[in-house]
Amino acid sequence: MNISSQQLKSDIIIIGAGIIGLSIAYHLLEADPQLSITILEKEKMLGLGSTGKGTGSIRYSHSSPSLRRLSLLSRDFFLNFESAFATPIDYLEKGCLRLASDEVLWNQLQLTTQHAEACGIPMRLLKQEELLKCFPYLHKSRFLGGALCPWDAYADPYAVLAALYAAVRRKGAFVHFGREATKILINGAKIKGVETRQGTIWSPLIVNAAGPYAAQFAATAGIILPVQPYRRQVYVCSNPHDVPPATPLIVDLATGFYLHQEVSGKIVLLGGTDRDTWPGFEDMLDKSVAEDFFLTAIETVPSAIDIKWLRTYTGICEQTPDCHPIIGEAPELKGFFLANGFSGHGFMHAPATGRILADLILNGKTERIDINLFHLGRFIGSEKEEHILL
Ligand SMILES: Cc1cc2nc3c(=O)[nH]c(=O)nc-3n(C[C@H](O)[C@H](O)[C@H](O)COP(=O)(O)OP(=O)(O)OC[C@H]3O[C@@H](n4cnc5c(N)ncnc54)[C@H](O)[C@@H]3O)c2cc1C
Repeated sequence: MNISSQQLKSDIIIIGAGIIGLSIAYHLLEADPQLSITILEKEKMLGLGSTGKGTGSIRYSHSSPSLRRLSLLSRDFFLNFESAFATPIDYLEKGCLRLASDEVLWNQLQLTTQHAEACGIPMRLLKQEELLKCFPYLHKSRFLGGALCPWDAYADPYAVLAALYAAVRRKGAFVHFGREATKILINGAKIKGVETRQGTIWSPLIVNAAGPYAAQFAATAGIILPVQPYRRQVYVCSNPHDVPPATPLIVDLATGFYLHQEVSGKIVLLGGTDRDTWPGFEDMLDKSVAEDFFLTAIETVPSAIDIKWLRTYTGICEQTPDCHPIIGEAPELKGFFLANGFSGHGFMHAPATGRILADLILNGKTERIDINLFHLGRFIGSEKEEHILL
């Protein structure tokens, strides 16, 4: 593709046209419509990264306070999306039911419920008897109880991505598909631009929104990012016969197993048990784990024994060691901004991330959240947050 001379220079270059890169571009242009923004995307079309593989779950009922805060900062964006963008995204507050199968997990759920309610997020605890009354298709004896958050929602990730793409183009951003950023160009301590096989683009500001490839891209400037890619396998199946339509997302805290029912009520996406896999970009289907997976599914929803396994796909999830994102300016390189390692929450936290990064880039600070919580430097010291699984 030929690039016009005005596109060779840009106020800001964003690497990656996934949900994170597009949300950042959108919020920057909302705050300052005069900005020139260039977005580089190595794939030839929209939605081929992690975003296009996502399940579309938007959750508030996290056990981590900082993840809850990011969800709350994103809430109005999703609630108003359909009217603001005049695009249907299948937004549905169907809730999420988290299940505890032992005392430790049950205590954890009670604590999460207390903390969530304290910051205005509705959550309801259900002890075994009530749980089975409300959700009779669950395993009869495995779960001590569950917690239901009615705010937890679903939206179609591709529809959100496509609407953001159209919006940033309307606002004047240049989006180049099939153009991989191969190197960050630095002169002394200053960013000069980005090298691509089709030529250099000059800018003093670069945003790393490269999803699972974030660490590789940062490494071209000698920056080590603890962001690893993990394969996630999703089983597309017919709906278990006794699971009614509009059922909440169901998550078994012990195994990670989840059941997400598509809006039609005819199909379910199952997955979540592969959280202990090795890092890598290999996205081939691993059939060897399917038997164990379906056994786990049956131990959660026994009628899953009769479902039809329609197909399987895999996606790559970008993860940090503490499963919290890295958001902010790289400490060693002024002008290099990071929005990486969302650890299974990048879709739901994209609006907050866009807003925070727009604040940091344009004003040098944000009032929305304590940005130190997401600083890359936290991995250098000894204090680390607990590994958050969900
Ligand atoms: C199976 C699965 C289910 C998920 N379910 C959910 C969910 O329910 N809810 C939720 O919130 N999150 C979910 N996630 C996580 C979520 O999808 C990601 O966190 C989110 O999409 C990350 O967005 P991103 O823009 O950072 O990455 P991506 O969408 O991967 O975008 C990054 C883009 O950068 C491009 N790129 C990379 N390197 C370069 C380069 N050097 N030059 C140019 N372009 C480059 C890539 O091609 C890619 O298009 C799920 C993930 C998976 C895999």
